[in-house]
Amino acid sequence: MFANNIPASNLIDPHLSYVREVTPSADGCEDCLRTGSLWVHLRLCLTCGHVGCCDSSPNRHARKHFHASGHPIIKSFEPGESWRWCYVDEQEV
Ligand SMILES: [Zn+2]
Ligand SMILES: [Zn+2]
Ligand SMILES: [Zn+2]
Repeated sequence: MFANNIPASNLIDPHLSYVREVTPSADGCEDCLRTGSLWVHLRLCLTCGHVGCCDSSPNRHARKHFHASGHPIIKSFEPGESWRWCYVDEQEV
């Protein structure tokens, strides 16, 4: 009888089913390393381990990886940070 009153933010994000045990692909943004570009912060794809750069970086490779691969969940790859982000819902998960 409560089912219709649950706010969407309290539901578990269905995209978390894409999260796997991953090994980071590189110590830096693998695409920036290839082209010699600079990045600001690093993001780790939790589906395949791709390391890409954040939306504050000039090339936004983490977001490009999401568009190219469809992998929706990333985690901060910065020391001491452990938050996760869903690109589909544009929210922390
Ligand atoms: Zn989501
Ligand atoms: Zn990059
Ligand atoms: Zn990926």
